[in-house]
Amino acid sequence: MLEKIVIANRGEIALRILRACREMGIQTVAVHSTADSDLKHVRLADESVCIGPPSSLESYLNIPAIICAAEVTNASAIHPGYGFLSENAEFAEQVESSGFKFIGPSAKAIRTMGDKVAAIKAMKDAGVPTVPGSDGPLNDDNERNLKIAKRIGYPVIIKAAGGGGGRGMRVVNAEGSLLNSIQLTKTEAGAAFNNDVVYMEKYLEKPRHVEIQVLADSHGNAIHLAERDCSMQRKHQKVVEEAPAPGITPEQRARIGERCAMACEEMGYEGAGTFEFLYENGEFYFIEMNTRVQVEHPVTEMITGVDIIREQLSIAAGNKLNYKQEDIKVRGHAIECRLNAEDSKTFMPSPGKITSYHAPGGPGVRMDTHIYNGYSVPPHYDSMIGKLITFGDTRESAIARMSGALSEIVIEGIRSNINLQRDIISDGNFAAGGTDIHYLEKKLGIH
Ligand code: ADP
Repeated sequence: MLEKIVIANRGEIALRILRACREMGIQTVAVHSTADSDLKHVRLADESVCIGPPSSLESYLNIPAIICAAEVTNASAIHPGYGFLSENAEFAEQVESSGFKFIGPSAKAIRTMGDKVAAIKAMKDAGVPTVPGSDGPLNDDNERNLKIAKRIGYPVIIKAAGGGGGRGMRVVNAEGSLLNSIQLTKTEAGAAFNNDVVYMEKYLEKPRHVEIQVLADSHGNAIHLAERDCSMQRKHQKVVEEAPAPGITPEQRARIGERCAMACEEMGYEGAGTFEFLYENGEFYFIEMNTRVQVEHPVTEMITGVDIIREQLSIAAGNKLNYKQEDIKVRGHAIECRLNAEDSKTFMPSPGKITSYHAPGGPGVRMDTHIYNGYSVPPHYDSMIGKLITFGDTRESAIARMSGALSEIVIEGIRSNINLQRDIISDGNFAAGGTDIHYLEKKLGIH
């Protein structure tokens, strides 16, 4: 097993990793900015190192400072969590070349999956279904581009190969605006991502977001842990997630899951990962792979009983997977509501001191959060302050428990999106299951 690791993240995921380490007898080093010395995991860690001022650029994205912290504390590995440096191939490379284990896949795998054109090609080669599209970058040949769009059929979407976070995309409804849109997306992508490569896909009009969780070890074994539905989104940000996805049959799950696991084996992928798909009319279309743990990993843990962080740590230590595919059984239903320090209506971030906090509880209720009474949410980072997860034998029971938990929870002193979550959980269409990725924005009157 690993002896001591650096947790190169903050907030709830840093605490989640720390908890797994404690269970496994792994020593922890918390690295934090000057704005974060009061974080719960910093106080609980065996050691802590301040790595810079509040700005993420100078702290959580400061590669030399993080590697230095691993050196001075004699740690052997670094867990990047999600966000920050977790999908930065250069970071993974520098961690490894400095003699530490990067808890995640190789820099090469991160790089391939970070380039969407390369990722789609790798998936096609591995037999994972992709969105009908240009099968590679668009060039300056206008005739060719018009032809590709005609073959795919309008509407199409132009996407930046280096895009992320829902940025660098443009929908084109008719031929008249195609060439102009390609040019615009190219220019924007060049400025935003330093990479002006763009490609074209069929624009799916009412898809759901369904993703497959995978685990792969360094011995060439890979398994999938079924799917999650994360269609409840606002501005491409997930708001509510659940597992399993409503309406997906065990046969569909096995078919797409096996493809993803096989793709991992073919790529020599190591660690936890997620294959994201758009799902429409019974078909899966790959859009991207996340080469790290996801915010929404707990819903999968609840329905499979697998501790994903524990597996990440075990895989990084060079062990074989603790499970075979046939050991993975989906049982019950889990829902996660992301809790943000932001106004429920305007979505304005609301940092500040939490003057009163009461956690919900009871059977099937899990609260993953770093907040506590008197904790001050700093203004410098993402506004997510925790995740409320409920589990039940059925989807109805998970919803009923979520509804109870949301009425029980109290967070005072700052504004939060609890009211928005109550609205979603009591929504009749959500109760029916299977709403598409535009549903929440329509409900909020954005479209
Ligand atoms: P990012 O890396 O920026 O998150 P993705 O490729 O995952 O980019 O796409 C983000 C979101 O954009 C998707 O969740 C979906 O809402 C929308 N989107 C992307 N590709 C398509 C498509 N071909 N058809 C319809 N919507 C799409």
